[in-house]
Amino acid sequence: MFIILMGPQGSGKGTQAERLLPQFHLESIATGELFRNAVAAGTPLGLRAKELMDRGELVPDDVTIALVEDRLEDQDARRAAGEDVRGALFDGFPRTQAQAEALDHLLARRGGKVDRVILIDVDRDVLVERVAGRRICPNCEAVYHVTHRPPRIEGICDVCGAELEQRPDDVKALERRLDAYYAYTAPIAAFYEQRGILARIDGSKPIDEVTASIQAALGGIRERDASGQPA
Ligand code: AMP
Repeated sequence: MFIILMGPQGSGKGTQAERLLPQFHLESIATGELFRNAVAAGTPLGLRAKELMDRGELVPDDVTIALVEDRLEDQDARRAAGEDVRGALFDGFPRTQAQAEALDHLLARRGGKVDRVILIDVDRDVLVERVAGRRICPNCEAVYHVTHRPPRIEGICDVCGAELEQRPDDVKALERRLDAYYAYTAPIAAFYEQRGILARIDGSKPIDEVTASIQAALGGIRERDASGQPA
């Protein structure tokens, strides 16, 4: 089973992915995370990606698609070796129409397809407010929000007592990422909507409600899977 989790930066995709992965026995293929790993490892790909990521721009399609293909080949190899590999949850991919089409080909070659696309929708203003209020502990990396998750003492980390910081480039980088999202990624929702596999979820609701809505949208698939019918 292959699921795509779509949504703008800050919509809570990462949190929801963490909850869904164990429940649906899926593996995460999160391109942003793969790029960050490549940056940390200092690979040629990482060096190329870093500059673009820092600017909030997209990494070129050919590079991104090759990275995803690599992950799918890794799954093929493990499946061939007898491991129980049931599919993937794509997080942050596809982000362009070309990536969406490439993913169709990659899955078709494996006899698979995109089973469901979950779009976590949140208004742009809400996303900017979420990020503008974010405070990070530079010492232990605990994350707070001035209104949604305030520390007990204003400006001080509950865990280690260090002074909290706001990342100055957070809001500027977010604006650029949102520009890229609305220009290239949001339009591909229509591509999946035409196929009847898109579920729009209101991401402004509390986290548990969002999880429940996603589970409801995926429920039919899981039942079909369990009965052995193709999803
Ligand atoms: P994310 O963690 O998904 O927000 O991704 C962080 C950054 O990695 C993005 O701002 C892009 O620069 C890059 N990136 C991640 N996924 C993709 C993708 N599918 N296509 C192009 N660039 C991507």
